[in-house]
Amino acid sequence: MNSPTKGAAEGVGPEERQYQVVFDHSREGIFVTSGDGQFVQVNPGMVDLLGYLRLELLARNVQDLFSDPGDWDRLREEIEREGRARAFEARLRRKDGRELDCHVSAAAEHTPDGSVAGHHGLVSPIGERPAPDEQIQRATLHDTLTQLPNRTFFVQRLERLLQRHLYRPAYRFGLLFVALNRFKLVNDSLGHRAGDRLLVLVAERLSNLVRPEDTVARIAGDEFGILMMDLDGGEEAAVVAGRIREGLGEPFDVFGEDVYVSASIGITLSEPTYGSAEDMLRDAETAADHAKREGLEGGLVFEDSMRTGSVTRFATEMALRRAVERQEFVLHYQPVVALESRRIVGFEALARWNHPERGLLMPDQFLPVAEETGLIVPIGNWALMEACRQIAEWRAELLGSESLVMTVNLSVRQLLIPSFGSVVREALEGAGIPGEALRLEITETVFLDDPAAVRETLAQIAELDVKLCLDDFGTGYSSLSYLRDLPVHLLKIDRSFMGRLSEADMGTTGEMVETILTLARGLDLEAVAEGVETEIQRANLLRMGCRHAQGYLFSRPVEAERARALVLDSSEAGIPGPA
Ligand code: C2E
Ligand code: CA
Ligand code: CA
Repeated sequence: MNSPTKGAAEGVGPEERQYQVVFDHSREGIFVTSGDGQFVQVNPGMVDLLGYLRLELLARNVQDLFSDPGDWDRLREEIEREGRARAFEARLRRKDGRELDCHVSAAAEHTPDGSVAGHHGLVSPIGERPAPDEQIQRATLHDTLTQLPNRTFFVQRLERLLQRHLYRPAYRFGLLFVALNRFKLVNDSLGHRAGDRLLVLVAERLSNLVRPEDTVARIAGDEFGILMMDLDGGEEAAVVAGRIREGLGEPFDVFGEDVYVSASIGITLSEPTYGSAEDMLRDAETAADHAKREGLEGGLVFEDSMRTGSVTRFATEMALRRAVERQEFVLHYQPVVALESRRIVGFEALARWNHPERGLLMPDQFLPVAEETGLIVPIGNWALMEACRQIAEWRAELLGSESLVMTVNLSVRQLLIPSFGSVVREALEGAGIPGEALRLEITETVFLDDPAAVRETLAQIAELDVKLCLDDFGTGYSSLSYLRDLPVHLLKIDRSFMGRLSEADMGTTGEMVETILTLARGLDLEAVAEGVETEIQRANLLRMGCRHAQGYLFSRPVEAERARALVLDSSEAGIPGPA
């Protein structure tokens, strides 16, 4: 770019610095062109006045802005003829097509050999700009509850800062997205009036935690946005985030009651690549989501890797929600057999998602998102009902199957619902089966979250005569002795132990399985081995005293119809072994 003047953006001396301030903050439009009228520099005033983006202006010729293109030619001739600045009135056309009467003054700059290197110009509208009605302005740009600027204001301001950042990349700013955690809980337990009061107090505290030149806005219900000016970099933003987290950590006095809040904070830093305010805001939200998911205190700076993750996650979440509404889930059943006789004693129900486009999806393709979003609760409750209905049908219909037992997996999310005990009761009553017909599987990780709440729910379940099975046993962190304290009746020995049970020298794996089985006997717990794939594994388990198992050796998880046929075919001699 053949800038005719030393770039305004690189001014170093005091005069240039002053010029820079005028250039950046003037409400008048200021521009510099090259000799042929192409814009080389335009200030934010110019951008505001004409409604073009800065880059759009830089792609144009000054002449293009005049309603009558001849006007610029006339002005330029006068300037060049008289060798000094000239001012005149002209009509300019904004990007939106509106015409604007303006004073335009300009001067030429010459090269040492006397030819015109370019023009400097100033544009100001004739007459007052329509002053926005104070009242309307306030109402549309402020949040009435907290008196903070609202989302619209915030986005407008962010848009301007991004524009300015384009010409002065050294001028960095940051955006903090602050989402209150569990605000809904306050609303639900203390009422909306308390919730509103809390938001006002949070707004006040946030405003006191930032510098006067920063902007705090209420973006949505329990979400706030903060613009931090003049930032050195990510570390400084993280420090501010830390200060905010700490500041919010002090209790709030809501009508005499101490209320504690915490926040998830996402950070984005100004980058010339940000095309719009919405993009930058969205990335900060994404980072806050990540911070929340990872249980991070303080703030998390946005990284590109979060974007792709959240987009696919979001898409899966949307599809999952639809799937719950349209009931696209099915259960497959894997037989649990008596190792000795190979007879089926029950089934484990395993969820599948019958996806309209992608076909049958396995749990690892949708359960993690279901867990995160809480959708596991409706899915899991449906699985519970459906599995109970199915086992009731088989017990009633198939001769000799009155004692078949159904096993259903539970998520900790279900256990944390205080009324989950009654969900189980309804499932049993709805199907008309006794509690012994159902087993519920949990993993020891359920005791990490809120042990008291989980135990409470487990006690309700035990009252219904429903037995609890500890899944994936041996993989967790629990010591074997700690088992004594858990309200469980069965252990499912994890399939990772099975591999070595096939080898002649079973080594420590064999010992481990043996220890688990001995311990289970001592504690009067039943043990079920899972993932049994070979006859050797079966023989070794039998020798060690294990009586029940499931695994591909007997059957993979299969559809209900096939499971029913398996029961019929194996009622005499069990599931056949290899010929
Ligand atoms: P899990 O409870 O440990 O289920 C056993 C998994 O091992 C099943 O995978 C089953 O197909 C597989 N399996 C069975 N026998 C063998 C074998 O001989 N060899 C090998 N290699 N694998 C075998 P699946 O169906 O993909 O389920 C994965 C996990 O998804 C389950 O692990 C369970 O934690 C979860 N899950 C499934 N359905 C539900 C549900 O309705 N609710 C909840 N909360 N979780 C579920
Ligand atoms: Ca299981
Ligand atoms: Ca398992």
